[in-house]
Amino acid sequence: TAPDSFLSKLTGLFASPAAENPTGPMVESAYRHAGLDARYMTCEVAPADLEHAVRGAVAMGWAGFHCSLPHKVAVIQYLDELAESAALIGAVNCVVIRDGRLIGENTDGQGFLTSLRRLVDPRGKRIVVLGAGGAARAIAFELALAGAGDLLVVNRDAGRGEALVGDLCERTAVRASVARWTEAFAVPAETEILINATSVGLFPDVEAKPDIDYDTLTPGMIVADVIPNPPRTAFVKEAQSRGCTAIDGLGMLVNQAVIGIRLWMGLDADAEVMRRTLTDIFGGPEG
Ligand code: NDP
Repeated sequence: TAPDSFLSKLTGLFASPAAENPTGPMVESAYRHAGLDARYMTCEVAPADLEHAVRGAVAMGWAGFHCSLPHKVAVIQYLDELAESAALIGAVNCVVIRDGRLIGENTDGQGFLTSLRRLVDPRGKRIVVLGAGGAARAIAFELALAGAGDLLVVNRDAGRGEALVGDLCERTAVRASVARWTEAFAVPAETEILINATSVGLFPDVEAKPDIDYDTLTPGMIVADVIPNPPRTAFVKEAQSRGCTAIDGLGMLVNQAVIGIRLWMGLDADAEVMRRTLTDIFGGPEG
């Protein structure tokens, strides 16, 4: 029998470069699994074309779209409204189009928190975040909103680290401090959660590990990586070999998409289906 409508629900990604981003096949596997007539278009959009892309999405009745580098801050000027964490973080990675209105969300940090919460509640915990870029910022704000105890931000570029910690202290109740990363970082013994939110270890530089003194890792620590490709980074392997409990970057990528799909479609997407699609793309769980 013919369907009632030949109009698919439309979503997608605006980024530059966009070609290596695996979100499209991941999200479409969840749409297919749910029997939803919906598409996710991965679009290479130059900074000068962002406004036209956003207006085009509205004109074509898209349900929403992801924004990746370099559009996460620039997109804000074209939106009607910001959700709480997007406003706090100052960046948007997910836009929802509802009745022609554009609402900016930041689901990166929320996706990370979903992964982390499967192992531990960050409330009151002593946490070290390596890095102070976009991913670190989103994660640090969500940890602060979730009631993290102490947050230590470790970054090479002192100005960037100080700016993040200044914003955290001004806008949230967390006790945040900054350390300049000039040599192998010794993880303080009382640390309960250690997060690599730098880009170190991303394909193709798969042997690289954040410069820390690995002898300072202790078996009780929870160690998380944001790098999705490869899923088992050298950092994750090293932490596991020292008895730490490790969380890979696939969880963050999958869970931020679960949140986005819920916002766009009102659908609880199957995280396992999306995770499997990614491990197939990245070459299996041994990564
Ligand atoms: P940014 O460029 O905004 O930030 C990069 C961060 O990494 C900075 O803090 C930078 O330090 C630090 N860094 C880079 N190289 C080194 C090095 N050799 N030693 C120490 N620190 C270093 O990038 P993003 O924050 O947007 O992204 C970071 C990573 O997070 C990416 O690899 C991306 O793949 C991943 N990511 C994963 C997501 C997921 O869903 N799993 C979602 C979003 C991002 P400095 O300031 O000193 O230059």
